[in-house]
Amino acid sequence: MEERKQLWAPWRYAYVSRVGKKEEGCVFCEAPRKSDEEALILYRGKRAYVILNKYPYNNGHLMVVPYRHVASLEDLDEEEMADIMRLVNASLKALREVYSPDGFNVGVNIGKAAGAGVEGHVHVHVVPRWFGDTNYMAVLAGVTIIPQLLSDSYKLLRPLLAKHMGDSR
Ligand SMILES: [Zn+2]
Repeated sequence: MEERKQLWAPWRYAYVSRVGKKEEGCVFCEAPRKSDEEALILYRGKRAYVILNKYPYNNGHLMVVPYRHVASLEDLDEEEMADIMRLVNASLKALREVYSPDGFNVGVNIGKAAGAGVEGHVHVHVVPRWFGDTNYMAVLAGVTIIPQLLSDSYKLLRPLLAKHMGDSR
């Protein structure tokens, strides 16, 4: 229960306690080696990919991740930066279409002190927000509806990511 509560606290990334250190290697390096469906990858760009967060703060919480294992934004090259920004923007458009949020948090946690769950592999969080969602989510925190939400999110968002990145996949 304690751990559950933590999942819903903004920018406290509980991923690490569930899978981060226990899995072999790095979850963000391993995800692209799995099938899209298994890893919940919504879109594979040239230099980065979009993946649903399995332990979301909010419905539709996704992440944009470079394929290369680098720890911080300043380690990214020009092409990675451009691709990540394109993917963030396509994600915002897709999330708007599906969920009509009132706003977004787009953010990067760099280093353990900042709350990074998967240290060593930088990633951009995109979290849809609604007025009053903090209270709403606190209420939902004890309810096991997340798997359903995840597969719904996946089915809805996947074609829209492709659309907004300009291909017909
Ligand atoms: Zn990695």
